[in-house]
Amino acid sequence: MTYPLRVRIREETEKQAMPQTSVRDDRAPQSRAGRPILVLGGGVGGMSFAISASRAGWPVHVVEADPNWRVYGAGITVTGPTYRAFRTLGILDELKAQGFHVTEGGRLCAPDGTPVADLQDRPIQPDLPVSGGIMRPDLHAILSGLTRAAGVKVSLGLTATEWMDVGDKVEARFSDGSTGTYDFVVAADGAFSKARTFLFPDAPKPTYTGQYCWRVVAKRPPEIDRSHFFVGAPVTCGLVPVTQDRMYMWLLENRPTMHWVDEATAYKRLAELLAPFGGPVAAVRDGLGPDSLVNVRPLEATMLPKEFWVKGRSILIGDAAHATTPHLASGAGIAVEDALVLAEELERQPNDIPAAFRAFTDRRFERCRLVVESSIAIGKAQQDHVSPEIMGAMMAKAQAALLADI
Ligand SMILES: Cc1cc2nc3c(=O)[nH]c(=O)nc-3n(C[C@H](O)[C@H](O)[C@H](O)COP(=O)(O)OP(=O)(O)OC[C@H]3O[C@@H](n4cnc5c(N)ncnc54)[C@H](O)[C@@H]3O)c2cc1C
Repeated sequence: MTYPLRVRIREETEKQAMPQTSVRDDRAPQSRAGRPILVLGGGVGGMSFAISASRAGWPVHVVEADPNWRVYGAGITVTGPTYRAFRTLGILDELKAQGFHVTEGGRLCAPDGTPVADLQDRPIQPDLPVSGGIMRPDLHAILSGLTRAAGVKVSLGLTATEWMDVGDKVEARFSDGSTGTYDFVVAADGAFSKARTFLFPDAPKPTYTGQYCWRVVAKRPPEIDRSHFFVGAPVTCGLVPVTQDRMYMWLLENRPTMHWVDEATAYKRLAELLAPFGGPVAAVRDGLGPDSLVNVRPLEATMLPKEFWVKGRSILIGDAAHATTPHLASGAGIAVEDALVLAEELERQPNDIPAAFRAFTDRRFERCRLVVESSIAIGKAQQDHVSPEIMGAMMAKAQAALLADI
């Protein structure tokens, strides 16, 4: 979800040993270093890391809190850098087969649907799409299928309740009372990371950025053949094709404070917000009803200072370290990049985990900060009713910087 858009993958606190329960870990496979890696969270970042590390020869154990390993049914926008990361991960063909991908830039429209301008974006690599979209459950199915195919051990409905470094290994305890011994821990448990709170009780938490994001999936009319952005009304919205017959609509609503939204009547409020629009957006509005699957959530963001990314043999990646708002549609992309870069640094220094973690943090920090801070700034500009030209320039600057190698 974003406005029109535009990497070379270069390529402890030591505490008392945790008392062992009588339940031995029988989930984790044996390791390259004699021990597996523990990955907390099976979202896009955790799965991407598990796939990459497993391919590099590490035994990996993913622990995912959701017993059904689901994702909500909204669409997700894929940008140039994200395509590049997905290609390195090896899922470009599956992505292309299941989503909707275009080689043109997006189209800007007036609120009544009249086209105003076509954006002349170029692909980040010659044979990649410029932008596109896919349903989150479809992306999740690709990644979870590959995770299992890579031989990763996946435990669902489980969380780690505590863990600690003991020399050059980590002893973990799980919510079912069992324990395990690991080489190190990769925490990829999302924006509201419990791992972050466990490791760093004083780390900054995500804060509300002043906007709500509304999303709904609708039938795709033939003319919505690329991302469309409707600007000039009190709220901003867009349409993104995700399959041949479906698209998703996103809308950003300015709200000074967080408030509770009744899910049962959310479609009515969304219809009110869509009142100023004509054309294809009006058609989405007119199709809203009690059965519409409207997803609405406040936008919250955080950019952890570097000192909160690593503690001993535990590291945070993805939203757990840098949760962004969706204004550059890059949160999932930088989570995949994190996974690729961490696997690469571990490959480079497999026997010096703290050094690999430092190298990872040095490579990732500024790029992730760029995404988070630029996204928040663009959201703020929308709230301040800054002109579309200035906002366009802010986006173009961030997008140009994101073309750099990772
Ligand atoms: C409204 C909105 C729209 C967005 N649109 C886009 C977009 O169009 N394009 C884009 O690139 N990005 C987008 N993003 C950002 C993107 O969704 C995130 O950046 C991305 O999902 C981060 O991946 P992650 O793996 O770090 O975290 P998540 O995807 O949140 O995954 C975390 C996983 O950890 C699990 N978990 C949670 N707690 C625990 C625990 N204690 N133990 C074990 N497991 C746990 C969760 O169940 C989940 O499976 C959007 C974000 C928002 C809020």
